[in-house]
This record gives sequence, structure tokens and C-alpha cells, in this order.
Amino acid sequence: MPQGPDLYAVLGNPVEHSRSPRIHALFAAQCAQALRYERRLVPPGGFDSALAALRADGGRGCNVTVPCKFDAARAAQRLSAGAALAGAANTLGWDADGCLWGENTDGIGLLRDLARLLGARADAAPLHGREVLLLGAGGAASGVLGALIAAGAARIAVWNRNAARAAALVARHAELADRHRCALESCAQPGGTPTLVVNATAASLGGEGLTLPEGLLRPGVLAYDLMYARTPTAFVAQALAAGAHAADGLGMLVEQAAESFALWRGVRPDTAPVLAALHAELQAELQTELQAGVRATTPR
Ligand code: NAP
Repeated sequence: MPQGPDLYAVLGNPVEHSRSPRIHALFAAQCAQALRYERRLVPPGGFDSALAALRADGGRGCNVTVPCKFDAARAAQRLSAGAALAGAANTLGWDADGCLWGENTDGIGLLRDLARLLGARADAAPLHGREVLLLGAGGAASGVLGALIAAGAARIAVWNRNAARAAALVARHAELADRHRCALESCAQPGGTPTLVVNATAASLGGEGLTLPEGLLRPGVLAYDLMYARTPTAFVAQALAAGAHAADGLGMLVEQAAESFALWRGVRPDTAPVLAALHAELQAELQTELQAGVRATTPR
């Protein structure tokens, strides 16, 4: 096997704008861990080959992003209970004996960020009694639904463009919801009076807002977009225009990465300085872009 710092990567498509290498570099510096972390683009249908290539290069583990999380769960030889329920994994690692394990840290990552935004403790039912609307039923929605249920939500409705996928996701989580006394249902149209709306669709990736009934996003609602960007995402902009509180998924990204890092390295980094550094870097990039735009349009 190749020598040098331990190798990790993020596998997905697209990955060129992923902040994961930067986040893990900051964690590694903070925790004095020697590792390198790469982006690896997975061509359609190419997840198993990309994973095999990473292993052949000496890889110790990887994060998995859109659209490969279901492939990752299938590839793992040992799945955590959470990843098995989700049917999706965002973190893989090889044991010393070469066994590939899979975990899903998206749920705990989202909960930690929601708890921060709501001023609650992540381990003390931060969604106690809340009505939640979850938009989407892909890899990310699958990864977070179990955590939303376990965090004490009283009612969760799941809407997806492809309704059958939402129904299947809800059916898979019915037993967990019963255990936590959470009323869980799929819905044909987004609706109700939720106080937390989680957008786990990829609509913002294409710059699209979502068609929601008038008044659903309103003052007092927290609208959370799993997608993040230098400027407000389409969903965040839509929520702010309706008077709701809104946040994007940068905090979740950092929190889920910290969980992955802890699983791989056995040490949990402090996320607050890393989130602050990323916010500052995104703002600086935006300023540079704006200045370049101004310069390009200013007559000499
Ligand atoms: P995915 O597995 O490909 O699923 C995409 C989901 O979005 C599906 O439910 C799909 O509906 C829906 N969708 C796509 N385009 C849509 C549109 N124009 N209108 C309405 N629904 C649309 O992707 P994923 O892994 O779930 O990721 C979803 C988003 O979450 C991405 O933006 C990703 O970057 C983000 N994410 C962020 C974090 C974080 O840490 N912040 C973590 C995970 C994911 P159909 O089933 O009908 O196709």
C-alpha cells in the first residue's frame, strides 16, 4: 500500500465545489492528525469502481455525496442501524481487517445545526412537540428522517415530487415513528402548519424554488435548506421573502463531517471555529467575485 498521510476522499457527482476537503483539512490541523482528503468524481454507474480505486490507492475511508449514498449503503459489508434504516450511507471506512463499514452522519449533523439555531441541546429532544414538513425523499431525506423522529417531533409530513418514494420512506420509518409517538405520514401536496420546514430536495442545486401553498412559509417558521451557497439559495430566498427564519446547510455540512472525522480518527473536532472560518471564506470569495464584476463593468 502507498505510504504517506492517511488518504480519505469525497465521492459523488458533482464534487468540484465540495467544501469537504477544506473542512477535513481544518479538522486535521486542529486535532494534529496527518491525513489528506481528495475530491473524486464518480461517473454515472461508476461508484463501485471509484470505491475500489480509492482502496487501491490506500484509502482509509470516504464521504459519499449526491447521488451515490444508496450505492454506498449497498457496498458496505457492515451497516449501522441508522444507515440500514435510511438505506443510505454518507460515510464509509475500512477496518484494520479490510471490512467496509457504513454509517450515515447526515441526521446527527442536521440535528446539531438545528439545535444550535433553536438554542436547544442536540441530545435533549430539540424538536419536542414540533410539526415538521420534510421536502424530498432522496439520499439526504432518507438520512435525516430517523433523526427528526428521534429528536421528538410530534408530527412529520414527507412530500416528494415522486410521491411513491415519499410513501416508501415513510413506510420504512413507521415502526420508529410509533416508538417515538410521532405522527408520520406522506402527503400528496406540501401543507399543514409546520414550524420547521426542511428542504432536502436538490431543487436549489438547479437554482429553483419550490411551489408551496401561500402562508406555509411565514413568520415563526424555521426554513432549513440542506443545500448551501455563497448567496442565499433559492429556498432560503423564498423563505426570507415570506418572513420566515431561514438557514442553509453549511452548518450541517460541518457537523456531519465532524461525525465522520470522529469515526475515522477517534477524536471529535470543535466545529464552531471551522464553521466561522468557512463563513468568512465564502464571504471573501463573494466579495472577490463582486469586485471582479464591478471592475469588469467599470468604464476606464
Ligand atoms: P438525491 O438522492 O439525488 O435526491 C434528490 C431529491 O431532490 C429527490 O427527492 C428528488 O425528487 C428531489 N428533487 C430534485 N430536483 C427537484 C426539483 N426541481 N423539484 C423538487 N424536487 C426535486 O440527492 P440528495 O443526496 O438527497 O441531496 C439533496 C440535497 O441535499 C442536495 O442539494 C445536496 O447538496 C444536499 N445535501 C446537503 C448536505 C449537508 O450536509 N448540508 C448533506 C446531504 C445533502 P424525485 O425523487 O422526485 O426525483
